[in-house]
Amino acid sequence: MRDEPPSLRKWARFMKYVDELRDPDVARALAAAIAAEADTGRSYHLMEFCGGHTHAMFRYGVPDLLPANVHMVHGPGCPVCVLPVERVDMAVELARWPEVILCTYGDLLRVPGSRRTSLLTARAEGADARMVYSPADALSLARDHPDREVVFFAIGFETTTPPTAVVLRQAAAAGLPNFSVVSNHVLTPAAITHILESPEVRELGTLPLDGFLGPSHVSTVIGSRPYEFFAEEYQKPVVIAGFEPLDVMQAMLMLIRQVNQVRAEVENQLTRLVTPEGNPKAKGLVADVFELRKTFRWRGLGEVPYSGLAIKAAYADFDAERRFGLASPPKRENQACICPSVLRGVAKPTACPLFGTTCTPDNPIGSCMVSSEGACAAYYAYCGAGSTHLRVPRAESVEG
Ligand code: SF4
Repeated sequence: MRDEPPSLRKWARFMKYVDELRDPDVARALAAAIAAEADTGRSYHLMEFCGGHTHAMFRYGVPDLLPANVHMVHGPGCPVCVLPVERVDMAVELARWPEVILCTYGDLLRVPGSRRTSLLTARAEGADARMVYSPADALSLARDHPDREVVFFAIGFETTTPPTAVVLRQAAAAGLPNFSVVSNHVLTPAAITHILESPEVRELGTLPLDGFLGPSHVSTVIGSRPYEFFAEEYQKPVVIAGFEPLDVMQAMLMLIRQVNQVRAEVENQLTRLVTPEGNPKAKGLVADVFELRKTFRWRGLGEVPYSGLAIKAAYADFDAERRFGLASPPKRENQACICPSVLRGVAKPTACPLFGTTCTPDNPIGSCMVSSEGACAAYYAYCGAGSTHLRVPRAESVEG
């Protein structure tokens, strides 16, 4: 950091414990620095790609500390939220096969499919859908139930792909005949490029974007280099940021500085975890097991070229889409739910007429209200049910 008050310099140099990443004095100093450097003659629209950033910001009241001309735009970085409805239906259908145990991460169990049937409601009707904490749990289930077909319904960005690759290699090495995976793994840089190519950004100007808060966990795997292309090509600065409130605020300050200085570079706020090259071992595992799909459908973004991963032919015996002949033709989303607009950053959750009334975490209509990383869930938890006010109350907004 440059030109910071002494308290910020001290924080940046000596921070060791998580409490220090939530220090209210440093938050106040960062807020003052942002207010001092944000040009009052213009506005700043900064997209946080990750749902983890959205929740961190609202949990700690960061929006309330920002000047009125600094706007956060919520991006599509929530793996449960971006899964299109036909893929949810695929999971439900598979769970209904009598020989199948369908396992996946917890949030996905509650996402409604095209007829509002989720894996949980299918389970109430007799389907065997189970929550697992990791792909390794699914592999153990397959070992424990040799008479059943255990299918791991894998979702997630680059962070969760390596563990899926590991269990596929282990299943292949062990010749486990009753284990397979549906790969719904997706890629962050392709999605950001797709947003920057969208009509809202390029032609209509309805989605102003001045820069990106880059993903945290994803970047520990892929590194900071993959963002260099669109920083240069689209002249949009990227600052990779951690998930603690002071990480987010420092990254915002770095972004505002880049915008003011008419720079469009990739900067790394999360130097304690992210390197330019990422994690070569994890990337090697993924490259061994997965290959790019030519296209993959995302809720909100539609078809995104080269944005999803399929299982390579060498591991075809463990590819559930091949084993069960699965297909997922596009299906109509619930038209009352504006999740697609929320995921593209063109609408806030509070613009949805169902927010906090018909749609709540106990009765979610769309995936953005289900997921612990969803924008609607963040607004519901931290802005109050039915709130149309986008900012959290100032008092007690930053924890000590
Ligand atoms: S509040 Fe519910 S229905 Fe509205 S966009 Fe969010 S998830 Fe969809």
